[in-house]
Amino acid sequence: MLVGLIVPLAAGLVISFELEKKQMMTRLADFHQRSLDTLIDTAEDAMLSFSPESARNIVGILLQDDRIVRIEIFSSIYDLYLLRVSKETPEHEYNTMELVQNVVKNGEDLGYVLVAVDKDWVTPRIAESRNQIIVMFVTMFVGGLLLIIPAIYFKVLSPLNRLMRQVEVLSKGELGVPYRWQGRDEFSMLGKTLDDMRIKLDKTFSLMREMAITDELTKLPNRRGFYGEVEKLLWLGGRYRHPLILALFDIDHFKSINDNFGHPVGDEVLKSFAGVISNRIRKTDLFARIGGEEFVLVMPETSRDDAYKLLDRLRLAVSEHEFSHGERVTVSVGYTDFSGSEKLEGLMDIADKALYKAKQDGRNRIVLGPVESSS
Ligand code: GH3
Ligand code: MG
Ligand code: MG
Repeated sequence: MLVGLIVPLAAGLVISFELEKKQMMTRLADFHQRSLDTLIDTAEDAMLSFSPESARNIVGILLQDDRIVRIEIFSSIYDLYLLRVSKETPEHEYNTMELVQNVVKNGEDLGYVLVAVDKDWVTPRIAESRNQIIVMFVTMFVGGLLLIIPAIYFKVLSPLNRLMRQVEVLSKGELGVPYRWQGRDEFSMLGKTLDDMRIKLDKTFSLMREMAITDELTKLPNRRGFYGEVEKLLWLGGRYRHPLILALFDIDHFKSINDNFGHPVGDEVLKSFAGVISNRIRKTDLFARIGGEEFVLVMPETSRDDAYKLLDRLRLAVSEHEFSHGERVTVSVGYTDFSGSEKLEGLMDIADKALYKAKQDGRNRIVLGPVESSS
């Protein structure tokens, strides 16, 4: 980038120097010509009258100028110099540029006039003007840079950096980190689009996560949702030695509902059953559908006695509920309490055996496990 700035700058400098040099040379040439013209008028009289004195004045004035090095007025009539004045000395030689003009009167050649100027007169002046131009260009360049650098930083580098951080966060899958963009420039538009994309992805993933752990029919946690939650409850119960109950529900003769009334009615019964139980338990309880017509209820902070009362109330509520197909539905329950150290599989197994016992004993009842294994 710096090269891109410096190359045109250097080219600009060179062009400026050349123009300045040309201008100075033209000015010197103009002066040279004017000096000669001035001299010729006077020289003509001096030549005719052979009186160098009349030209001496003007020559003296001209020689006061630094640029003029030598003036010669040569008379052809007398074949000698009327005047020849020079600033040249053996110690100081000049790099001269000469202009000579013949003086002719009525067709007669009177002689010539020569004016020599110092070509090197322009050199120090060009150097001076070159220095001025360099100072001007450098000032402009540095000033420009001082203006451009903050503009580039704030308008390009800083937003680009932010955009890269935003993309990095997104690529790590961190969809909860918002990036707000206020401006209307391209970076802000890109940033806003990325953030909109993040919001949409976040919503989609949340929905997918929710769907993955929710039973579509009853909207209860499904088996995966249950396993995701239950360990936490068991850990808390074990850690603080608080009582906890795990109960398995299985709707009695559910197959016959499907067989007699059709699968959609069976679905309705499952939904209503889930509603009957959900409306009667605490928010802190975990109720989930873990199979076709099998449900699990985990009740923290619940003793064995309280569990019996509550579960029997639930059983009764189901049996008294008016389901849409107009027939009674009952449920069997096997449950157990948590001593604080069993594994989930162990508890499930005990509750399952108790449930089996409830079925065996005639259904529509609740049985506490562990039960004696029947031979
Ligand atoms: P039991 O009293 O011994 O539990 O008998 P049951 O008929 O309830 O048990 P069984 O295991 O024989 O039948 C369960 C039925 O549940 C079979 C299956 O088709 C039905 N089922 C499973 N999931 C669904 C579902 O999502 N909707 C409907 N409508 N039926 C389902
Ligand atoms: Mg079953
Ligand atoms: Mg059943």
